[in-house]
Amino acid sequence: MDLTNLGKVLETESKFRIKQAREAVYKNFISDWSEATFFSKDLRDKLNIECPLEIKADVLVSKKEDSVKARITLNDGLMIESVLMRHSDGRNTVCVSSQVGCPLGCLFCATGKMGLERSLTTEEIIEQVLFFSRYLKKENQTVTNVTFMGMGEPFLNYENVWGAVKIFNDYKYFNIGVRSISISTAGIIEGIKRLSQEELHVNLAISLHAPNDNLRKSLMPIDKKYPLGEVLKAVADYIEITKRKVMFEYVLIKDVNDSDENAKELAKIMGNNKLYFVNLILYNDTGIYKASTTERVERFREILEKLKIRYTQRYRFGDDIQAACGQFATNK
Ligand code: SAH
Ligand code: SF4
Repeated sequence: MDLTNLGKVLETESKFRIKQAREAVYKNFISDWSEATFFSKDLRDKLNIECPLEIKADVLVSKKEDSVKARITLNDGLMIESVLMRHSDGRNTVCVSSQVGCPLGCLFCATGKMGLERSLTTEEIIEQVLFFSRYLKKENQTVTNVTFMGMGEPFLNYENVWGAVKIFNDYKYFNIGVRSISISTAGIIEGIKRLSQEELHVNLAISLHAPNDNLRKSLMPIDKKYPLGEVLKAVADYIEITKRKVMFEYVLIKDVNDSDENAKELAKIMGNNKLYFVNLILYNDTGIYKASTTERVERFREILEKLKIRYTQRYRFGDDIQAACGQFATNK
């Protein structure tokens, strides 16, 4: 897909027609301009050549059929991955990428191992949700939630991520509620600050993964630049302004961050803040480390429960198609 020339091709058209064209793409999810019958045949043909709508993607469906991975080839040949998760309650969540690769190099993450190729444009971020909107349209369904938990660090591509968020939320287009849009960050403080100033209060998630700097540094090199205390301070300020809940993601890795001590320390930093909650994630294999045993996960949860820490455990989608958290990579 490439809409760069849309404005130019529709230069002589009325404002109303331009609005109609955008709605055809972002609301009615057309995949070919021939469907935009409000334009003349000549114009539709021209649009198909100069503003192609085709999204090049390979699709993989998990055995349980609850996740679908799209490997999208961008116009410059680079590839990204996005996943559709179909929840049993009817929600359809798309997990989108914000960058090709990621520069932050967290040791447990497949994307981190790729390094950064480049950031995505707003259109490339939108394209991922569009792909699944077209896919679901065939079943009379829509994308209900978007999470920025695919490849890349969204706050290192703030402008373009935010450009996409606005289109997702716009009632004229995707019409996805702000509370159904989530951004996960490894703790880029400037991004957290900036988000707190936005009018649209989307959900914020922080990749914590360790309850102290020593351990966190060994898993997430970015902790050296943005230590835990500073990240937590930025989150407290964010809550002060927005009054929104914040999710702290914690991947349980065998013998690394899953001890009783770690759980107690985690509980301590969560304190009794009613707007904090922990999201426990089962480690998905990316070559290094092992997932915590079921008994360990149970024990970890028990401790959090006893210490009255609010927590949820993430359902594991799509690990058989390498579509689970942290398994996104496109240079294999
Ligand atoms: N860069 C952002 C968003 C993308 S990662 C961030 O780090 O928050 C989305 C989530 O998947 C993060 O919480 C990340 O830490 C987690 N993750 C990464 N590797 C994982 C793995 N191997 N198993 C489970 N979760 C993983
Ligand atoms: Fe980047 Fe997030 Fe992976 Fe860390 S976990 S390397 S920040 S994508």
